[in-house]
Amino acid sequence: MGDIIHIKPHHFIDIIASFDNKEIFSPHKYGHAQHIIAKKIFTEKQIILIMELGIDDICNPCIHNINGICDDIIDTSFRPKAPKSKNEWNLLIDRRWCERLNIKQGDRLTPIQFCYLLKEKGEDISDIYRELPPDRIIKKQVQIKNGIEYYLHFFVNPY
Ligand code: SF4
Repeated sequence: MGDIIHIKPHHFIDIIASFDNKEIFSPHKYGHAQHIIAKKIFTEKQIILIMELGIDDICNPCIHNINGICDDIIDTSFRPKAPKSKNEWNLLIDRRWCERLNIKQGDRLTPIQFCYLLKEKGEDISDIYRELPPDRIIKKQVQIKNGIEYYLHFFVNPY
């Protein structure tokens, strides 16, 4: 993977939002590479993120990556209007993030640049996650905001 990470926008955002969750640094039963990518993002501020709306470096080793398509399903019990297919759900969320942040497939950003974009344009996520119940949206919004502050404080202004 070198100094470049191909990553879905929402995967990066989920990692930043999970900065205080140690589980993100542990291997997952699906065999995906979230723990490896999370470690890189939290230790290598110069790393280049390449926006990928399909299978990314997290998905590559996952048991649900079947010939380049995610065959997993999501829990729709609390979001009945969301598509059951995780592939479709991810695409929906990533397209909304792309529109909001004015980014596209193949764009290159450092994690710090992505965090500043999120800080500037990603404050209200209610439209992006509109299928979620309001309490989950608020919780996610707070986690993202705290993750951005943590990352920028740690890497840009550590004192
Ligand atoms: S999006 Fe699908 S293929 Fe990618 S890590 Fe998640 S479950 Fe695995």
